Amino acid sequence: MSRYGLHRTGSSRYKDYLRSPQWGFRRVRWFRDCRARGFEPACQVCQVTLADAGTLDLHHVSYDGVSWDEPQQRWLAHEADDELMPMCRQHHQDLHQMMDGRKEFYGWDRRRATVVIIGRLVNRLTRNGG
Ligand SMILES: [Zn+2]
Ligand SMILES: [Zn+2]
Repeated sequence: MSRYGLHRTGSSRYKDYLRSPQWGFRRVRWFRDCRARGFEPACQVCQVTLADAGTLDLHHVSYDGVSWDEPQQRWLAHEADDELMPMCRQHHQDLHQMMDGRKEFYGWDRRRATVVIIGRLVNRLTRNGG
């Protein structure tokens, strides 16, 4: 993937990956493994569960486990479980609006930016009351 020289916190570089069957399978496996360990997946901001929401997104805290296999022409989805974070659609969108839309986070380590932004979203939710 050398044609992408510019390092950004955002995920535009992995757009193709997020549409690939490899990511589809990895995603299903993450939710299945989570439940197999006795946890119901829940949005890390508002705690709505997969059962209640019907569907949850998985945010990449890091893309370290993702690589492109040039000879096989396919993606390798080797994300560790803790590199993926369940989020409801709304809060996932909010997170990316901040992460990708604000100069503030350009060049940040993605994991660090995610932690800071999740903290802000949780604070915002708490302030607004329930
Ligand atoms: Zn949420
Ligand atoms: Zn995301």
